Amino acid sequence: MRNPVQDYLEQIVAQCGDAGGEVAGYIPELAAADPDRFSLCLATVDGQVYEVGESDHRYSIQSMSKPFTYALGLHDQGIEAVARKVDVEPSGDAFNEISVSPDTGRPKNPMINAGAITASSLVAGDSGDERFARAVEWYGRFAGRELELDSSIYSSELGTAHRNRAIAHMLREFGILEGDPEEVLDQYVRQCSVAVDTRDLALMAATLANGGRQPRTGEQVLDPALVEHVLSVMTTCGMYDAAGDWVTAVGMPAKSGVSGGIIGVLPGQVGIAVFSPRLDPHGNSARGVALFERMSTDMEMHLMHVSRGSRNAVRSSYSLASARSNTHWQGADEEVLDRVADRAVVYELHGDLLFAGAEKIVRTVVEDGPELASSTSRTSTTSPT
Ligand code: GLU
Repeated sequence: MRNPVQDYLEQIVAQCGDAGGEVAGYIPELAAADPDRFSLCLATVDGQVYEVGESDHRYSIQSMSKPFTYALGLHDQGIEAVARKVDVEPSGDAFNEISVSPDTGRPKNPMINAGAITASSLVAGDSGDERFARAVEWYGRFAGRELELDSSIYSSELGTAHRNRAIAHMLREFGILEGDPEEVLDQYVRQCSVAVDTRDLALMAATLANGGRQPRTGEQVLDPALVEHVLSVMTTCGMYDAAGDWVTAVGMPAKSGVSGGIIGVLPGQVGIAVFSPRLDPHGNSARGVALFERMSTDMEMHLMHVSRGSRNAVRSSYSLASARSNTHWQGADEEVLDRVADRAVVYELHGDLLFAGAEKIVRTVVEDGPELASSTSRTSTTSPT
Protein backbone atom coordinates (compact mmCIF):
# COMPACT_ATOMS: atom_id res chain seq x y z
CA MET A 1 0.00 0.00 0.00
CA ARG A 2 1.31 3.46 -0.84
CA ASN A 3 2.06 5.81 2.02
CA PRO A 4 -0.32 8.82 1.89
CA VAL A 5 2.35 11.13 3.40
CA GLN A 6 4.72 10.27 0.54
CA ASP A 7 1.88 10.78 -1.96
CA TYR A 8 1.00 14.12 -0.42
CA LEU A 9 4.62 15.37 -0.54
CA GLU A 10 4.99 14.30 -4.19
CA GLN A 11 1.74 16.04 -5.02
CA ILE A 12 2.67 19.40 -3.47
CA VAL A 13 6.12 19.28 -5.08
CA ALA A 14 4.41 18.83 -8.46
CA GLN A 15 2.01 21.68 -7.72
CA CYS A 16 4.56 24.17 -6.29
CA GLY A 17 6.94 24.36 -9.25
CA ASP A 18 9.33 27.15 -10.18
CA ALA A 19 8.72 30.15 -7.92
CA GLY A 20 11.19 32.48 -9.65
CA GLY A 21 14.31 33.96 -8.10
CA GLU A 22 18.02 33.88 -8.87
CA VAL A 23 20.80 31.50 -7.92
CA ALA A 24 23.38 33.10 -5.56
CA GLY A 25 26.13 34.54 -7.71
CA TYR A 26 28.82 35.83 -5.37
CA ILE A 27 31.16 32.87 -5.99
CA PRO A 28 31.46 30.81 -9.19
CA GLU A 29 30.69 27.50 -7.44
CA LEU A 30 27.27 28.72 -6.27
CA ALA A 31 26.57 30.61 -9.52
CA ALA A 32 27.14 27.36 -11.41
CA ALA A 33 24.47 25.46 -9.41
CA ASP A 34 21.80 23.89 -11.59
CA PRO A 35 18.76 26.05 -10.70
CA ASP A 36 16.34 23.20 -11.34
CA ARG A 37 17.78 20.76 -8.86
CA PHE A 38 15.29 19.98 -6.15
CA SER A 39 14.72 17.88 -3.08
CA LEU A 40 12.41 17.79 -0.09
CA CYS A 41 12.84 15.56 2.96
CA LEU A 42 10.71 15.23 6.04
CA ALA A 43 12.07 13.30 9.04
CA THR A 44 9.85 12.37 11.96
CA VAL A 45 11.06 12.34 15.55
CA ASP A 46 10.96 8.53 15.48
CA GLY A 47 13.31 8.42 12.49
CA GLN A 48 11.05 7.88 9.47
CA VAL A 49 12.41 9.87 6.51
CA TYR A 50 10.24 10.78 3.50
CA GLU A 51 12.20 11.87 0.43
CA VAL A 52 11.20 13.56 -2.82
CA GLY A 53 13.65 14.51 -5.59
CA GLU A 54 17.43 14.26 -5.46
CA SER A 55 17.70 13.90 -1.72
CA ASP A 56 21.29 12.64 -1.83
CA HIS A 57 22.64 15.51 -3.98
CA ARG A 58 25.29 17.36 -1.95
CA TYR A 59 25.68 21.14 -1.57
CA SER A 60 27.23 23.50 0.98
CA ILE A 61 25.41 23.96 4.27
CA GLN A 62 26.11 27.73 4.32
CA SER A 63 24.06 29.60 6.92
CA MET A 64 22.12 26.49 7.92
CA SER A 65 25.25 25.72 9.95
CA LYS A 66 24.59 28.78 12.14
CA PRO A 67 22.03 27.32 14.59
CA PHE A 68 24.23 24.24 15.11
CA THR A 69 27.40 26.29 15.71
CA TYR A 70 25.47 28.48 18.12
CA ALA A 71 24.21 25.33 19.86
CA LEU A 72 27.79 24.11 20.19
CA GLY A 73 28.89 27.47 21.63
CA LEU A 74 26.08 27.20 24.19
CA HIS A 75 27.00 23.60 24.94
CA ASP A 76 30.68 24.48 25.42
CA GLN A 77 30.39 27.82 27.27
CA GLY A 78 26.88 27.97 28.78
CA ILE A 79 24.04 30.40 28.05
CA GLU A 80 25.39 33.30 30.13
CA ALA A 81 28.92 33.32 28.74
CA VAL A 82 27.54 33.21 25.18
CA ALA A 83 25.03 35.99 25.93
CA ARG A 84 27.89 38.28 26.94
CA LYS A 85 29.20 38.00 23.37
CA VAL A 86 26.09 37.70 21.20
CA ASP A 87 22.51 38.88 21.78
CA VAL A 88 19.24 37.17 20.80
CA GLU A 89 17.39 40.15 19.29
CA PRO A 90 16.01 40.01 15.73
CA SER A 91 17.87 42.57 13.66
CA GLY A 92 15.51 42.80 10.69
CA ASP A 93 18.70 43.15 8.66
CA ALA A 94 20.14 41.19 5.78
CA PHE A 95 22.44 38.28 6.66
CA ASN A 96 25.69 40.16 6.02
CA GLU A 97 24.69 43.45 7.64
CA ILE A 98 27.25 44.82 10.08
CA SER A 99 24.62 44.64 12.79
CA VAL A 100 26.04 45.21 16.26
CA SER A 101 24.99 47.12 19.34
CA PRO A 102 26.45 50.67 19.04
CA ASP A 103 27.70 50.77 22.63
CA THR A 104 28.96 47.23 23.31
CA GLY A 105 29.74 46.00 19.79
CA ARG A 106 27.76 42.86 20.62
CA PRO A 107 26.14 41.33 17.49
CA LYS A 108 22.34 41.35 17.51
CA ASN A 109 21.88 37.61 17.08
CA PRO A 110 23.79 34.47 16.04
CA MET A 111 21.86 33.98 12.76
CA ILE A 112 23.40 36.98 11.00
CA ASN A 113 27.05 36.84 10.01
CA ALA A 114 28.45 39.06 12.79
CA GLY A 115 26.79 36.87 15.44
CA ALA A 116 27.61 33.63 13.63
CA ILE A 117 31.31 34.52 13.37
CA THR A 118 31.22 35.29 17.11
CA ALA A 119 29.53 31.93 17.80
CA SER A 120 32.32 30.18 15.86
CA SER A 121 34.86 31.71 18.22
CA LEU A 122 32.93 30.31 21.20
CA VAL A 123 33.37 26.69 20.17
CA ALA A 124 35.86 25.00 22.51
CA GLY A 125 39.37 24.56 21.03
CA ASP A 126 42.78 26.19 21.02
CA SER A 127 42.92 26.97 17.30
CA GLY A 128 40.65 27.50 14.31
CA ASP A 129 41.57 23.99 13.13
CA GLU A 130 40.55 22.43 16.42
CA ARG A 131 37.33 24.42 16.62
CA PHE A 132 36.41 23.55 13.02
CA ALA A 133 37.11 19.85 13.60
CA ARG A 134 34.88 19.97 16.65
CA ALA A 135 32.11 21.81 14.75
CA VAL A 136 32.02 19.46 11.76
CA GLU A 137 32.00 16.43 14.05
CA TRP A 138 29.13 18.06 15.97
CA TYR A 139 27.05 18.68 12.80
CA GLY A 140 27.60 15.03 11.91
CA ARG A 141 26.13 13.90 15.20
CA PHE A 142 22.89 15.73 14.29
CA ALA A 143 22.92 14.29 10.75
CA GLY A 144 23.74 10.78 11.95
CA ARG A 145 26.78 10.43 9.68
CA GLU A 146 30.26 11.94 9.32
CA LEU A 147 30.27 15.13 7.26
CA GLU A 148 33.10 16.65 5.21
CA LEU A 149 34.32 19.95 3.89
CA ASP A 150 33.71 20.89 0.23
CA SER A 151 37.17 22.35 -0.36
CA SER A 152 36.41 24.09 -3.66
CA ILE A 153 33.55 26.06 -2.05
CA TYR A 154 35.83 26.83 0.90
CA SER A 155 38.70 28.27 -1.14
CA SER A 156 36.36 30.24 -3.37
CA GLU A 157 34.47 31.69 -0.35
CA LEU A 158 37.70 32.54 1.46
CA GLY A 159 39.09 34.38 -1.55
CA THR A 160 36.04 36.66 -1.72
CA ALA A 161 35.15 37.00 1.97
CA HIS A 162 35.97 40.71 2.11
CA ARG A 163 32.87 41.72 3.99
CA ASN A 164 33.05 38.83 6.48
CA ARG A 165 36.75 39.65 6.96
CA ALA A 166 35.79 43.26 7.75
CA ILE A 167 33.15 42.03 10.20
CA ALA A 168 35.64 39.73 11.95
CA HIS A 169 38.22 42.51 12.35
CA MET A 170 35.56 44.92 13.60
CA LEU A 171 34.48 42.32 16.21
CA ARG A 172 38.12 41.98 17.27
CA GLU A 173 38.37 45.74 17.63
CA PHE A 174 35.28 45.72 19.92
CA GLY A 175 36.77 42.92 22.01
CA ILE A 176 33.96 40.53 21.02
CA LEU A 177 36.44 38.25 19.28
CA GLU A 178 39.44 37.59 21.47
CA GLY A 179 41.80 35.60 19.27
CA ASP A 180 43.13 36.13 15.77
CA PRO A 181 40.18 37.33 13.63
CA GLU A 182 41.67 35.73 10.50
CA GLU A 183 41.64 32.36 12.21
CA VAL A 184 37.99 32.73 13.24
CA LEU A 185 37.05 33.94 9.75
CA ASP A 186 38.72 30.90 8.21
CA GLN A 187 36.88 28.60 10.63
CA TYR A 188 33.53 30.30 9.87
CA VAL A 189 34.05 30.00 6.11
CA ARG A 190 34.96 26.33 6.46
CA GLN A 191 31.83 25.71 8.53
CA CYS A 192 29.69 27.26 5.79
CA SER A 193 31.40 24.99 3.24
CA VAL A 194 30.55 21.64 4.85
CA ALA A 195 28.78 19.41 2.30
CA VAL A 196 25.34 18.05 3.18
CA ASP A 197 22.37 16.60 1.38
CA THR A 198 18.71 17.27 2.08
CA ARG A 199 18.28 14.05 4.00
CA ASP A 200 21.13 15.10 6.35
CA LEU A 201 19.48 18.46 6.90
CA ALA A 202 16.05 16.93 7.60
CA LEU A 203 17.62 14.67 10.23
CA MET A 204 19.56 17.58 11.74
CA ALA A 205 16.27 19.49 12.00
CA ALA A 206 14.50 16.40 13.37
CA THR A 207 17.13 16.12 16.11
CA LEU A 208 16.16 19.61 17.24
CA ALA A 209 12.47 18.66 16.90
CA ASN A 210 13.17 15.65 19.10
CA GLY A 211 14.51 17.67 22.03
CA GLY A 212 18.14 17.17 20.97
CA ARG A 213 18.05 13.37 20.54
CA GLN A 214 19.04 12.12 17.08
CA PRO A 215 16.04 10.08 15.92
CA ARG A 216 18.04 7.27 14.28
CA THR A 217 21.21 6.94 16.36
CA GLY A 218 19.37 7.67 19.62
CA GLU A 219 22.20 9.91 20.79
CA GLN A 220 21.23 12.84 23.02
CA VAL A 221 23.32 15.41 21.16
CA LEU A 222 22.07 18.65 22.71
CA ASP A 223 20.57 19.38 26.12
CA PRO A 224 16.77 19.97 25.80
CA ALA A 225 17.02 23.37 27.56
CA LEU A 226 19.54 24.50 24.93
CA VAL A 227 17.31 23.14 22.15
CA GLU A 228 14.54 25.50 23.33
CA HIS A 229 17.00 28.37 23.33
CA VAL A 230 18.27 27.66 19.81
CA LEU A 231 14.75 27.13 18.41
CA SER A 232 13.61 30.44 19.91
CA VAL A 233 16.40 32.30 18.15
CA MET A 234 15.67 30.45 14.89
CA THR A 235 12.01 31.49 15.20
CA THR A 236 12.72 35.19 15.54
CA CYS A 237 15.95 35.55 13.54
CA GLY A 238 16.32 32.55 11.22
CA MET A 239 15.04 33.90 7.92
CA TYR A 240 17.18 37.00 7.41
CA ASP A 241 15.11 40.13 6.97
CA ALA A 242 12.00 38.08 6.11
CA ALA A 243 11.71 36.58 9.61
CA GLY A 244 8.37 38.31 10.32
CA ASP A 245 6.80 37.16 7.05
CA TRP A 246 8.03 33.65 7.71
CA VAL A 247 6.66 33.47 11.25
CA THR A 248 3.23 34.67 10.17
CA ALA A 249 2.98 32.57 7.00
CA VAL A 250 4.79 29.38 8.07
CA GLY A 251 5.23 29.63 11.83
CA MET A 252 8.08 27.34 12.69
CA PRO A 253 11.73 27.77 13.73
CA ALA A 254 13.82 27.74 10.58
CA LYS A 255 17.11 28.63 8.93
CA SER A 256 17.97 29.14 5.31
CA GLY A 257 21.26 29.22 3.43
CA VAL A 258 22.37 30.87 0.20
CA SER A 259 23.01 27.50 -1.44
CA GLY A 260 19.20 27.15 -1.61
CA GLY A 261 18.34 25.05 1.43
CA ILE A 262 15.86 25.75 4.19
CA ILE A 263 15.44 23.72 7.36
CA GLY A 264 12.30 23.93 9.48
CA VAL A 265 11.64 22.38 12.87
CA LEU A 266 8.23 21.48 14.26
CA PRO A 267 9.00 20.72 17.92
CA GLY A 268 7.93 17.26 18.99
CA GLN A 269 6.95 16.27 15.47
CA VAL A 270 9.21 16.64 12.44
CA GLY A 271 12.27 18.20 10.86
CA ILE A 272 11.86 19.35 7.25
CA ALA A 273 14.46 20.38 4.67
CA VAL A 274 13.96 21.72 1.16
CA PHE A 275 16.61 22.42 -1.47
CA SER A 276 16.02 24.59 -4.54
CA PRO A 277 18.81 27.03 -5.46
CA ARG A 278 16.80 29.97 -6.84
CA LEU A 279 16.64 32.63 -4.12
CA ASP A 280 14.09 35.37 -3.46
CA PRO A 281 15.24 38.96 -2.78
CA HIS A 282 15.79 38.10 0.91
CA GLY A 283 18.21 35.31 0.00
CA ASN A 284 15.77 32.50 0.87
CA SER A 285 14.98 29.67 -1.54
CA ALA A 286 11.87 30.90 -3.41
CA ARG A 287 10.43 27.44 -4.11
CA GLY A 288 11.43 26.35 -0.62
CA VAL A 289 9.45 29.17 0.99
CA ALA A 290 6.41 28.34 -1.21
CA LEU A 291 6.56 24.68 -0.18
CA PHE A 292 6.90 25.44 3.50
CA GLU A 293 3.90 27.77 3.30
CA ARG A 294 1.90 25.06 1.60
CA MET A 295 2.85 22.36 4.14
CA SER A 296 2.17 24.66 7.07
CA THR A 297 -1.33 25.45 5.79
CA ASP A 298 -2.30 21.96 4.66
CA MET A 299 -0.95 20.11 7.67
CA GLU A 300 -1.68 22.78 10.30
CA MET A 301 1.99 23.02 11.20
CA HIS A 302 2.00 26.63 12.39
CA LEU A 303 3.37 26.78 15.93
CA MET A 304 0.50 28.99 17.04
CA HIS A 305 -2.10 26.62 15.67
CA VAL A 306 -4.56 25.81 18.46
CA SER A 307 -5.00 22.07 18.80
CA ARG A 308 -7.96 20.43 20.49
CA GLY A 309 -5.71 18.10 22.44
CA SER A 310 -6.28 19.57 25.87
CA ARG A 311 -10.07 19.57 25.67
CA ASN A 312 -10.40 15.84 25.67
CA ALA A 313 -7.51 14.81 27.88
CA VAL A 314 -10.07 13.03 30.09
CA ARG A 315 -11.55 10.49 27.71
CA SER A 316 -14.03 9.04 30.16
CA SER A 317 -14.61 8.51 33.84
CA TYR A 318 -16.69 6.00 35.75
CA SER A 319 -17.09 4.77 39.27
CA LEU A 320 -15.49 1.57 40.43
CA ALA A 321 -18.97 0.33 41.34
CA SER A 322 -19.84 0.21 37.65
CA ALA A 323 -16.56 -1.31 36.51
CA ARG A 324 -15.41 -3.92 38.95
CA SER A 325 -12.26 -5.76 37.94
CA ASN A 326 -12.20 -9.47 37.22
CA THR A 327 -10.30 -10.10 40.41
CA HIS A 328 -12.45 -11.90 42.88
CA TRP A 329 -12.00 -10.03 46.12
CA GLN A 330 -12.86 -11.80 49.31
CA GLY A 331 -13.58 -11.13 52.94
CA ALA A 332 -12.44 -7.73 54.27
CA ASP A 333 -11.29 -6.60 50.83
CA GLU A 334 -14.69 -7.20 49.32
CA GLU A 335 -16.35 -5.43 52.19
CA VAL A 336 -14.16 -2.31 51.70
CA LEU A 337 -14.82 -2.35 47.98
CA ASP A 338 -18.58 -2.61 48.51
CA ARG A 339 -18.47 0.30 50.90
CA VAL A 340 -16.37 2.71 48.81
CA ALA A 341 -16.69 1.59 45.20
CA ASP A 342 -19.16 4.33 44.30
CA ARG A 343 -16.77 6.94 45.69
CA ALA A 344 -13.77 5.70 43.74
CA VAL A 345 -13.53 6.95 40.18
CA VAL A 346 -11.48 5.68 37.27
CA TYR A 347 -10.32 8.46 34.91
CA GLU A 348 -9.23 7.32 31.46
CA LEU A 349 -6.72 9.83 30.08
CA HIS A 350 -5.20 10.19 26.64
CA GLY A 351 -2.87 12.39 24.65
CA ASP A 352 0.27 14.25 25.68
CA LEU A 353 -0.29 15.85 29.04
CA LEU A 354 1.05 19.33 28.46
CA PHE A 355 0.00 22.14 30.77
CA ALA A 356 -3.54 22.59 29.45
CA GLY A 357 -4.31 18.85 29.46
CA ALA A 358 -2.91 18.35 32.96
CA GLU A 359 -4.84 21.37 34.23
CA LYS A 360 -8.07 19.94 32.79
CA ILE A 361 -7.52 16.65 34.61
CA VAL A 362 -6.69 18.30 37.92
CA ARG A 363 -9.78 20.51 37.60
CA THR A 364 -12.03 17.54 36.80
CA VAL A 365 -10.80 15.65 39.85
CA VAL A 366 -11.17 18.71 42.10
CA GLU A 367 -14.70 19.39 40.81
CA ASP A 368 -15.68 15.74 41.27
CA GLY A 369 -14.34 15.73 44.84
CA PRO A 370 -17.38 17.01 46.80
CA GLU A 371 -19.76 14.84 44.79
CA LEU A 372 -17.66 11.78 45.49
CA ALA A 373 -17.44 12.52 49.21
CA SER A 374 -21.24 12.43 49.52
CA SER A 375 -22.18 10.23 46.63
CA THR A 376 -23.91 6.92 46.85
CA SER A 377 -24.10 6.43 43.11
CA ARG A 378 -22.40 7.96 40.11
CA THR A 379 -23.10 7.70 36.46
CA SER A 380 -20.32 7.44 33.98
CA THR A 381 -19.42 10.36 31.72
CA THR A 382 -17.62 10.45 28.44
CA SER A 383 -16.14 13.69 27.18
CA PRO A 384 -17.12 14.86 23.70
CA THR A 385 -14.34 14.46 21.19
N1 GLU B 1 29.06 31.88 3.34
C1 GLU B 1 27.99 32.82 3.35
C2 GLU B 1 28.40 34.09 4.02
O1 GLU B 1 28.65 34.14 5.18
C3 GLU B 1 26.78 32.24 3.99
C4 GLU B 1 25.64 33.10 3.69
C5 GLU B 1 24.30 32.44 3.88
O2 GLU B 1 24.10 31.26 3.64
O3 GLU B 1 23.41 33.22 4.24
O4 GLU B 1 28.50 35.10 3.40
